[in-house]
Amino acid sequence: MKPLQQPVIGILGGGQLARMMALAGYPLGMRFLFFDPDPQACAGQVGPLITAGYDDTKALDEFMREVDVVTFDFENVPVSTVRYVQQRRAVYPDPSVLEISQDRLLEKRFFQKLGLPVGQFFPVNSYSELAFGAKSYEFDALLKTRRMGYDGKGQFRITPGADLKSIWEQARGRKLVLEQRVPFEREISVITVRDADGQLSQYAVTENKHNNGVLATSTAPARYTDSCQLAKTHARTIAEALEYVGVLVIEFFETPDGVLINEMAPRVHNSGHWTIEGALTSQFENHLRAVCGWPLGSTDSWGYAAMLNWIGSVPNIACMPKQAHIHHHLYGKTPRAGRKVGHTTITAEDPANLQRKVVNFAKQLSDSLGKL
Ligand code: AMP
Repeated sequence: MKPLQQPVIGILGGGQLARMMALAGYPLGMRFLFFDPDPQACAGQVGPLITAGYDDTKALDEFMREVDVVTFDFENVPVSTVRYVQQRRAVYPDPSVLEISQDRLLEKRFFQKLGLPVGQFFPVNSYSELAFGAKSYEFDALLKTRRMGYDGKGQFRITPGADLKSIWEQARGRKLVLEQRVPFEREISVITVRDADGQLSQYAVTENKHNNGVLATSTAPARYTDSCQLAKTHARTIAEALEYVGVLVIEFFETPDGVLINEMAPRVHNSGHWTIEGALTSQFENHLRAVCGWPLGSTDSWGYAAMLNWIGSVPNIACMPKQAHIHHHLYGKTPRAGRKVGHTTITAEDPANLQRKVVNFAKQLSDSLGKL
């Protein structure tokens, strides 16, 4: 692929991921145009934003006129929109990956077709299928909507005491899949970047902790186990099978018997935010490099990093501890329950120091909040 000179990059979706891509691309002379139905989309604070529905072909035509290449920050952009744009502008990654990743059932079957391990699952289209599946998984399962589910949204926990009838009433009318709960030891993710010529590079495996289905913290490099290498190999298999261009993130459950794939994100990802300070080239810069046909930057880590998400609210950043190893990021979003509004990354030279610095940060933070 011929490298684009001084490219203008169009991003479908104008959330914090688009914003952080732009912040990584400006120093390289790249320019950006965002497209989002929400006039408050936070990327609009750092670059021009077209506000229109994803089905507004007039607005999409205007968007395409202004940009050299297109990518997205959100995997639920309608495939029809991306296909429309693709008629006139190169889009990376290819929208075919969205068709798979937008539907949990297709996604799991895709992984299985590649011979990769996924947990037990069962498509659900009726109450009797739900009752049958719940019984087969001994009432230890999650019922999920096949589409539009992220950050734990559209999920129902099935336990021995659960009221299946009421869960069915809440979930019915949508396409569903029942997943057996995986008794994992850890959750890890692999961030892979691949360019159009097939060059591929992977960041250190990241360990993730979730609260109520929403990512709370990511730490990298994760404590090394054989599963880390296995996860990297599976992520490579997926990126190559898709002839993927850009950053692709695969989330895994680590169990005593190896790894099971949870899902993929065909975009830069929250579990890769640590790469801004913790790696030689951030996930954002490498995604842009890949979509513009530029050589990829090194994915090596500087040391160790822990990323803590600010969800729902963020303390006054002016009063938060600031030391050389503490890096705050706010997204310019209005705080709302469950909403990701920023993150803080703490860096250190080794895991023991990282742990100590994270504990100190938490203590300093609670002390400074106590003084307010
Ligand atoms: P998801 O949106 O499917 O990635 O789910 C969000 C989080 O819920 C995951 O990162 C896990 O912490 C948890 N989770 C989802 N599915 C399962 C499962 N089948 N077994 C155990 N935990 C799960």
